[in-house]
Amino acid sequence: MFDSHAHLCDEKFNHDRDDVIQRAYDNGVTAMLVVADSLNTCEQVCSLAARYSNMYPTAGIHPHNAAFVSEDTVVDLEHFIKTHRDVKAVGETGLDYYYGHDTVTVQKVLFEKQVCLADSLKLPLVIHCRDSQSDIVNILNKYSAVQGVFHCFSSDETFCNEVLEMGFYVSFSGIITFKNAQAIRDAAHCVPLDKLLVETDCPYLAPQGYRGKRNEPAFISATVKCLAEIKQCHVDEIVKRTTENARTLFQIED
Ligand SMILES: [Zn+2]
Repeated sequence: MFDSHAHLCDEKFNHDRDDVIQRAYDNGVTAMLVVADSLNTCEQVCSLAARYSNMYPTAGIHPHNAAFVSEDTVVDLEHFIKTHRDVKAVGETGLDYYYGHDTVTVQKVLFEKQVCLADSLKLPLVIHCRDSQSDIVNILNKYSAVQGVFHCFSSDETFCNEVLEMGFYVSFSGIITFKNAQAIRDAAHCVPLDKLLVETDCPYLAPQGYRGKRNEPAFISATVKCLAEIKQCHVDEIVKRTTENARTLFQIED
């Protein structure tokens, strides 16, 4: 299984990070995308990923950090990516109007700069989208060559189809296993197997059965199993296809 979104540098893993990673590999996780959310975590995810095989870093600024950026932040990010050639994607970036209603203007500038950066460096985007669908689409539409994934998809079928029409991948997290998540399961139903990714978004969003606990990559099998039920296929097929898709999107050749 390829966990396409893990915040392994989160402080919640500070006391047992290596054990968590070992448990992931022991439980069938074969690769992980370790996601940054600030310039600081860019450094951290790159050094962590360098210590393990089949672990790949991203570099980007999360909309939650929009209040802390300066004019130079994206310039520094560009320099960071150009000097760290192992970076596989720009992100996590996006727009969050649920938490960030007072930083909307800064978020939009920060997001568009990162989309532009992904476009010029030919890297895919890892997109966080919360209550901000139309603004995300409007910005992405200005950069038609850019590719990426809508991570932790939690909207409905209508928006899912819009995302697919733009050629983007759709990634589902443990939310899909929650009892009240029928609309998200309906959205997953319409994602073709060649556009599907799977993730934990750990340490957040532990799947049903682990709710309330700190999430970790080893728990991803619950989400894979749920996707197999929705798509009415074997678990192995979901594992195979989501792994292939992640490798294609993030241009992983080794
Ligand atoms: Zn995330």
